[in-house]
Amino acid sequence: MRDGCENVCGAGVEAPAPTMDDARAALLRYFGYADFRHGQRRIVEAVLAGRDALGVMPTGAGKSMCYQIPGIVLPGLALVVSPLVSLMGDQVRALIDAGVRGAYLNSTLTPGQQRTVMKRAVEGAYKIMYVAPERLEDPVFREFTRQVPIPLVAVDEAHCVSQWGQDFRPSYLGIRDFIESMPRRPRVVALTATATERVRRDISALLGLDDPVETVTGFDRPNLRFGVERLEPKEKRLRIAGYIAEHPRESGIVYCNKRKDVDDVAAWLAVQGVTAARYHAGMDAAARRESQRRFIDDDVQVMVATNAFGMGIDKSNVRYVIHYGMPKSIEAYYQEAGRAGRDGEASECLLLWSDGDIATCRYFIEEGSVREGLSQEEASCAQAAQRRMLEAMIGYCRTTDCLRSYILRYFGERSYDGIADAAAGSSEGCGNCSNCLGDFESIDVTDIARACIACVRDMPGSFGKAMIADVVRGSKARRVLENGFDELGCYGTVRAAAPLVKETIELLAASGVVAISEGSYPVVERGPAFDEAQREGFSLCMKKAKRDRVRPQPARTPASVDAAPASDLFERLRALRKRIADDKGLPPYMVFSDKALRDMCAILPRNDREFLQVNGVGEKKLERYGAAFLAEIAAFSRDR
Ligand code: ADP
Ligand code: ZN
Repeated sequence: MRDGCENVCGAGVEAPAPTMDDARAALLRYFGYADFRHGQRRIVEAVLAGRDALGVMPTGAGKSMCYQIPGIVLPGLALVVSPLVSLMGDQVRALIDAGVRGAYLNSTLTPGQQRTVMKRAVEGAYKIMYVAPERLEDPVFREFTRQVPIPLVAVDEAHCVSQWGQDFRPSYLGIRDFIESMPRRPRVVALTATATERVRRDISALLGLDDPVETVTGFDRPNLRFGVERLEPKEKRLRIAGYIAEHPRESGIVYCNKRKDVDDVAAWLAVQGVTAARYHAGMDAAARRESQRRFIDDDVQVMVATNAFGMGIDKSNVRYVIHYGMPKSIEAYYQEAGRAGRDGEASECLLLWSDGDIATCRYFIEEGSVREGLSQEEASCAQAAQRRMLEAMIGYCRTTDCLRSYILRYFGERSYDGIADAAAGSSEGCGNCSNCLGDFESIDVTDIARACIACVRDMPGSFGKAMIADVVRGSKARRVLENGFDELGCYGTVRAAAPLVKETIELLAASGVVAISEGSYPVVERGPAFDEAQREGFSLCMKKAKRDRVRPQPARTPASVDAAPASDLFERLRALRKRIADDKGLPPYMVFSDKALRDMCAILPRNDREFLQVNGVGEKKLERYGAAFLAEIAAFSRDR
């Protein structure tokens, strides 16, 4: 390794350019990973070759390695621009625990501390420095950057530069000017989890990236199991309590749409004997911080929260995320659910929904406060977009197809690993979602659907679901007869009960065959797939829960099917990790990930060399924690 010596010679003498071998060596030495993941490799290669890069990767894909490794092996100091000021301390602590000289510069430090950090940086004390975007405008900071060689600027959460994204930060617009003001233009790496084409173009243009190497990593998260269950509010609580009881030692988040739900669910869980932390914007800052700390430090296993919780939470061993209500878009859902299983271990994402959730979401869109500064036209555009996103979310709840392919299709991915294009009603599934696993049975509603389609086609004008149900079921209601609808071909061709007919119409709406208008009197109209559905081979299935899902099911996540002795060891190692973490004032996941602990159970290392084989164990981790863990494993082997 050649990190360390180069800072003194920033004036001119160039160290030999680092290679991919150097990068891999650093990955192993500091982080204990044997190799880069695919997307990471391309970005690191690009940066080492002196090019700019833009990486689009979902949460958990490993964005930080894309700049931390180049930062370590390139001579000089790498700057990381990040909006997550509250997270910088954690990120730097994790770096230091891995043996990397990191630092951060933000407003949580006193002016004196800031001066010290810059002074030490000029002396070559650090390889990686996190800064908030506002800092780049500070003349003192600009002067500082002229005194240190800066080979790399990484822009984390790069979508914040785009006004088309949700988290626009005006200060991000200044990054380009900052980079151009530097005496020597560094390589620039931009990273984001937001995939849309428009945002990507913005990032490239507004940061002034120079012919960047672009990689878009697959959005699939194979270790996440997706599940959807339609339950009434009371049943939802039972289900949540049952789930928690089945997974007593696992960390999980329960997301609610409203603060009041957070309070209610947490209070209800307490009555069931489950201690849960709470988090929502109505609590004062100190209480929120304390809740977050207890969850991150594994002092409490369950967090009940609104979506205010999670942005910038890096806890890698969240084993499940349960949604107590339906989020307003697939984007929001995938982001929240994606906080499970960042360490790559099997984890579960369960969405519980009811009709009431849909009504609530619709209400929020219609009554929603119009964003300031939007014209009437822009506001109604935004509202239409929100409605479309909500419809897609409803479709996810109702679909009988593979949930994973539904999500990936939504994000514009046509297929995922090993499975052919699932766009046209998948026959094969991912094998890891509630639909593919057959937790539901399909009932064929093709005949009902055909009758409803004919009804929409033949009725003069548009009517609501109830009217259509009446017509196809042959009702003698006045409004049917007065309109002469008893003369339509579809009249009285369906025997099913009215609720099933209405549900079928909703399902048709979810699949785009019909569209249900908004407003106080929603009517059913032709949807984009209307003509297609009139063709010969059309069929439609509706899913119904097979079993009584409200009662606790036998646990079946890989985490709990482990052989009993191994999981005994896992619990011992977990307890050891917690003791060490508390002792050092670090969150447990930062000492070792769950994945690393599991790997120890599988490998049962007996000495330093074997301990280094464990995923996530680098030299520093071995030095710091090796002896304690090896002793625990040896004791376990003796006891057995
Ligand atoms: P992101 O910022 O994209 O959400 P992180 O950088 O937090 O992702 O990384 C997610 C997890 O993957 C972390 O636990 C990290 O240590 C792990 N990880 C990253 N790169 C690798 C790799 N090459 N091999 C194994 N694990 C990795
Ligand atoms: Zn599936």
